[in-house]
Amino acid sequence: MTDKKKYVYQFGAGKADGDRTMRELLGGKGANLAEMSRTGLPVPPGMTITTETCDQYYKNNQKWPEGLKEQIREGIRFQEEQLGAGFGDPENPLLLSVRSGAAASMPGMMDTVLNLGMNDMVAEGLAERTGNEWFAFDSYRRFIDMFSDVVMGIPHESFESAMQKLKDQRGVKEDNELTAKDLRDLVDRFKAIYRRETGFMFPNDPMEQLEFSINAVFGSWNSERAKKYRKINKITGLIGTAVNIQAMVFGNMGETSGSGVLFTRDPNTGENKLYGEYLTNAQGEDVVAGTRTPEPIKNLKKALPKVYDQLEEMTRKLEKAYQNMQDIEFTIQEEKLFILQTRNGKRTGPAAIKIAVDFVKEGIVNKQEAVKNLVTTAQLDQLLHPQFDDKAIKDKKVIGVGLPASPGAAVGKVYFTSHDAEDAKITGENVILARVETSPDDVGGMHASEGIITSRGGMTSHAAVVARGWGKPCVVGCDDIVINYKNKSLTDGNHTVYEGDWLSINGTTGEVVLGQLPLKPPKLSNDFKKFMKWVDEFRDMKVRTNADRAEDATKAKEFGAEGIGLCRTEHMFFEGERIVEVRRMIMSDNEKERRESLARLLPYQKEDFLGLFKALDGDPVTIRLLDPPLHEFLPHTEDEKKDLAKQFGISYRKVKDRVAALDEANPMLGHRGCRLGITFPEITEMQTRAILEAAIEAKEQGAVVLPEIMVPLIGSGDELIDQKNVIKETAEKVFKDKGTRIDYLIGTMIEVPRAALVADEIAPHADFFSFGTNDLTQMTFGFSRDDIGKFLPDYLERKIVLHDPFQTLDQKGVGKLVAEAADLGRATKPGLKLGICGEHGGDPESIAFCYKQGLDYVSCSPFRVPIARLAAAQEAIAQQENK
Ligand code: PEP
Ligand code: MG
Repeated sequence: MTDKKKYVYQFGAGKADGDRTMRELLGGKGANLAEMSRTGLPVPPGMTITTETCDQYYKNNQKWPEGLKEQIREGIRFQEEQLGAGFGDPENPLLLSVRSGAAASMPGMMDTVLNLGMNDMVAEGLAERTGNEWFAFDSYRRFIDMFSDVVMGIPHESFESAMQKLKDQRGVKEDNELTAKDLRDLVDRFKAIYRRETGFMFPNDPMEQLEFSINAVFGSWNSERAKKYRKINKITGLIGTAVNIQAMVFGNMGETSGSGVLFTRDPNTGENKLYGEYLTNAQGEDVVAGTRTPEPIKNLKKALPKVYDQLEEMTRKLEKAYQNMQDIEFTIQEEKLFILQTRNGKRTGPAAIKIAVDFVKEGIVNKQEAVKNLVTTAQLDQLLHPQFDDKAIKDKKVIGVGLPASPGAAVGKVYFTSHDAEDAKITGENVILARVETSPDDVGGMHASEGIITSRGGMTSHAAVVARGWGKPCVVGCDDIVINYKNKSLTDGNHTVYEGDWLSINGTTGEVVLGQLPLKPPKLSNDFKKFMKWVDEFRDMKVRTNADRAEDATKAKEFGAEGIGLCRTEHMFFEGERIVEVRRMIMSDNEKERRESLARLLPYQKEDFLGLFKALDGDPVTIRLLDPPLHEFLPHTEDEKKDLAKQFGISYRKVKDRVAALDEANPMLGHRGCRLGITFPEITEMQTRAILEAAIEAKEQGAVVLPEIMVPLIGSGDELIDQKNVIKETAEKVFKDKGTRIDYLIGTMIEVPRAALVADEIAPHADFFSFGTNDLTQMTFGFSRDDIGKFLPDYLERKIVLHDPFQTLDQKGVGKLVAEAADLGRATKPGLKLGICGEHGGDPESIAFCYKQGLDYVSCSPFRVPIARLAAAQEAIAQQENK
């Protein structure tokens, strides 16, 4: 009995079985084709084999489910009817394209076969029907090449070199200088290569060709490069790829035909104009391959004005239908326009902002849709990236200017293979990847790089598209320089740069510059400000910043921070002359001397805090008491110890003994955090006094102050009670001395797993909890924060972890502790203020988690504040929509 399950969805002639909502089943491309057909766009008729079929194929030992073949035959009959052609019919042949398409976009990762259905008879027939023998045999040789490469794994280079040999023999340079007779000859040569490599004749039966190709697309889902791309882009949970089989239309049928790619808006700037390239008398792959230089799309207006107008009108329709900027592939067959593909276009950060703001202005989307869909946190991140500081550059040595493919400035040491780039990145280097051109096999190296440069290729080349998507500065087609893979160098003829040398690239201007240029922070546009205002309309979780210096806090406030969530006071202990006093305090073996040192440190601390309170005027400032192990402040080398002994007038032996006494086997779990304040309460006293005196002074100077004193690294209620008593007693003394009182809060970090588990015991004594997820991750996994680099690459490679848990919160384990502590804390003390100040406070995925836990705020580094604001708003909208 035939399986009734639907494996194949048809589209074309203004109808479709599927629609845009069916991405999971039909893949992105399939769902789009169906939708486009529904919208009435001129898509060539076709069918999509579902992702579920791919899944079944794998589950079923790589065999087709029953019924699939018949459904495919039905699909072909439909296409034959639509175009009045026949699959394998020499009189009027139907030729097919076979393409992969998963639910998530994976550009260039999967395989494609074009012109399928070709054989000797069909090629002759096509030549006769079109009166274009050249085109027929050009299509035929392309098909043999692609089929052999994609389906049988015979390298494309074998065919390239056969073609080059023929061109040399004929004494011609360009492909299109070969005659039709030459192409017939080439077909024979290609078939001979196929026979030699496989031991079989090239398959003549179109249906057999199709079956082989479908299996190759299924197979490409699990290719190494596809798996790697999914890993880098964190694409998980997909069951397989769909296969799109569509009637071919031909852009290579003479001067009134052509192929092109375009974005409905400029993907670099967001400007509202068609942006793209096309080639006359060419098939789609010619445009991206870079073998012929494409023309800018505006030239089409002169060449084929009607088609251009139709194209323009269609892009407007598509933007409205998809509520997003589109990336379109089109073909013109004898002045008839066909849209082959449309998808949301990849764009830079500045372009994303401009498009979002313009789309709202033009009424295509509302503010909520713009905030939710049109700008990603990664794009926002790009805007906050540094630019070259032109004023600081006196005589930069530009060694080449290429196409500005993805804006921003990047500085790094140059590497010439993807592998070398990845290795250098692991050792902590900033890397620039230089390639003649990139292919999907290079994604690992591209990802590891700060910036990418290619000597070949255009604005839609692989390097350009991928770099733009990731927001990495990229210069392509820089033919001023010659890259030599053999001796790992590049040169402009005058200067040679070797592997490991510094290079700077400017993805905004296309310049490639010798050496290491200085960078400066970016300037933010009015559109950015407008967009961020909308973001805040949908956000109800606060965003604070981690900052220790007034200038950082001021920057963060400009970026929209609503308070300081963490001021790490130990950073202030290291600066300038303070370290001397800190050392004197640590060296002293009695409380009296310690107090004298602390008294000398007090004014410094007070001055710093005063700066913070004034900068934050009106917003809360959380200051954490001293956290790191004391020996971090002491000298390490013998010379340093000798100097210190001399400076303090004590014996070298005493210095050595004291350093040795303070040394710890495991400082991360040693004498740090509240343990310092508990053994040396005078430190807590001094810091409390500095905080409160600064707050009083700032208030007297007109600032609105909201000090929050935070106790680090507690694991029990009693630890907090101990420190709270010291803080409160000190506060009373300060208020008495100053003759005035101010409000302040005392809270604690939750960063020891035990603290999370006994949060109900801690909450009664705390005004707030701030999750220190750096230490909480360290202590929950038992992974050293400082040594994870030694094993993380292996863990990621073998999927023992899916991401660095110090970057993206481990929701399953660490998150469970956060949730537990939040619940226990609030159950004991309703309204307890909750925040997060570990690095995860700036990570969008972790921010979404914090939102779900009902945290009052996240706190992150100043440059991540806008990202956190957007992530919080997007999660709020998503939750709202779920309701
Ligand atoms: C934390 O542990 O998450 C934290 C914010 O503190 P630190 O990184 O200073 O240890
Ligand atoms: Mg910590």
